[in-house]
Amino acid sequence: MTLTGNLLIGHTPVTGTRAAIHAVNPATGQALEPPYFGGSGEQVAQACALAWAAFDAYRETSLEQRAHFLETIAAQIEALGDALIDRAVAETGLPKARIQGERGRTCTQLRTFARVVRAGEWLDVRIDQALPERQPLPRSDLRQRQVALGPVAVFGASNFPLAFSVAGGDTASALAAGCPVVVKAHSAHPGTSELVGRALAQAAQQCGLPEGVFSLLYGAGHEVGIALVSDPRIQAVGFTGSRSGGMALRQAAQARPQPIPVYAEMSSINPVFLCNAALQARGEALAQGFVASLTQGAGQFCTNPGLVIARQGPALQRFISAASHHLQQAAAQTMLTPGIFSAYQAGVAALAENANAQPAASGQGSTGPNQCQAQLFVTQAEAFLADPALQGEVFGAASLLVACSSDAQVRQVAEHLEGQLTATLHLDEADIDSARALLPTLERKAGRLLVNGWPTGVEVCDAMVHGGPFPATTDARTTSVGTAAILRFLRPVCYQDFPDALLPQALQQANPLQLRRLLDGKREG
Ligand code: NAP
Repeated sequence: MTLTGNLLIGHTPVTGTRAAIHAVNPATGQALEPPYFGGSGEQVAQACALAWAAFDAYRETSLEQRAHFLETIAAQIEALGDALIDRAVAETGLPKARIQGERGRTCTQLRTFARVVRAGEWLDVRIDQALPERQPLPRSDLRQRQVALGPVAVFGASNFPLAFSVAGGDTASALAAGCPVVVKAHSAHPGTSELVGRALAQAAQQCGLPEGVFSLLYGAGHEVGIALVSDPRIQAVGFTGSRSGGMALRQAAQARPQPIPVYAEMSSINPVFLCNAALQARGEALAQGFVASLTQGAGQFCTNPGLVIARQGPALQRFISAASHHLQQAAAQTMLTPGIFSAYQAGVAALAENANAQPAASGQGSTGPNQCQAQLFVTQAEAFLADPALQGEVFGAASLLVACSSDAQVRQVAEHLEGQLTATLHLDEADIDSARALLPTLERKAGRLLVNGWPTGVEVCDAMVHGGPFPATTDARTTSVGTAAILRFLRPVCYQDFPDALLPQALQQANPLQLRRLLDGKREG
């Protein structure tokens, strides 16, 4: 399949009129064809105008139509075959098997949202029927459902070129909610974005949907991205990336005459607590599991274990020795982009120069461009508590171990942490009480709490939370992975004393959609 480098404004391929970007193969350093010219302000506005024009019709498509659309997108992505896999491998340096797995996850995610749409639970129908005889005042008939927020701007992530990108979780959940989507493609994988974007536009056409339901733009974030978020027709933003990028977009969204919500997933170091009995009993195995999690995918996971916290003593020394041994054998791996590689190098250099952090071990040296050499540093709790620089995210396979003098100091370190996507406890039976004492703090700090596992690996399911307090995200009340992600793009509307014929189907008395309603305070069926 030939790549064109065209923007997609609705169904129409258009050449951008701003500076071109080229993808770079990070494994070779070579630029990839074709050039992707950035969208102009007018082209951003056209995409947003089309999305707005499509909104009212798209949000009232039937549950079946919308679910079928999501399934058709998945089928169209699968139909791209190896062309998609090969381009994504070339643009990211990620192994083929990883990209194939990610395509499976992306399509499963779209089909999962199709199931969610059909079930209709997200409409959250609540009905309080009229009480005309109530004293001292009668009650009106009140009916609530959730409606789509409006067109959503989506910023794809560099580290998941399929599952968190053009047709990833943000797009799938926004489309499921009934929101048209305008994607600002990540500049690191424009060819992958074009292929998936065309599949998505094809699915929209095949399903007879209004063309503005999806558009795809390229270009620098500070130009196209800010123009997109500032467009008055955009009503919410989904983003995964750096703290600076997420905060710039949030600032732009807040500066609008009508501020809008920004769901940005940004920065997390995912603390892992090694409780005393577990550390004594199985420090070796924990060290092996830790290094495997830390070095997976060159450490380029938002859930990478960037911080380990434990009580000092012989058991911790044994853990450090075993982890160092495993880390020293870890091969260097190609990072996603030259920019991410230089950010990693700078982060590691800053730790190496910090008198409070002692290098414990390094992985094997690089044999090609943009390769990340894994790193483990050790610090003491007092230093960690005193030095905010030690809490910064180093995106890649680098981790810092914090040695504490007591359980109380472990809790003090936990209390000192910024907001996180995850917090992990490794514990045995004898650790239950100390773990229980940590829990209230960890619940305040993180969106997902794990026991005896590793945080890398995020399941797409109903119970998942991939979110957390700032700076993990800009809105701790939500998740960007799992079916609850749909709630970000909905808002409640209440209909008072409407005649049945004027009510949306979801709220009609005869319940034609057969929804499980909250009727006069009782959940139906
Ligand atoms: P990024 O630089 O934040 O870029 C993400 C997207 O936002 C890109 O489309 C980018 O556009 C846009 N953008 C960036 N800065 C912007 C700004 N000031 N205004 C408007 N739009 C902006 O993230 P990245 O390139 O994926 O990775 C860079 C760093 O992000 C990594 O080193 C790492 O620290 C962090 N990261 C974190 C996670 C996580 O899940 N926690 C995931 C990936 C990356 P352009 O690039 O086209 O300008």
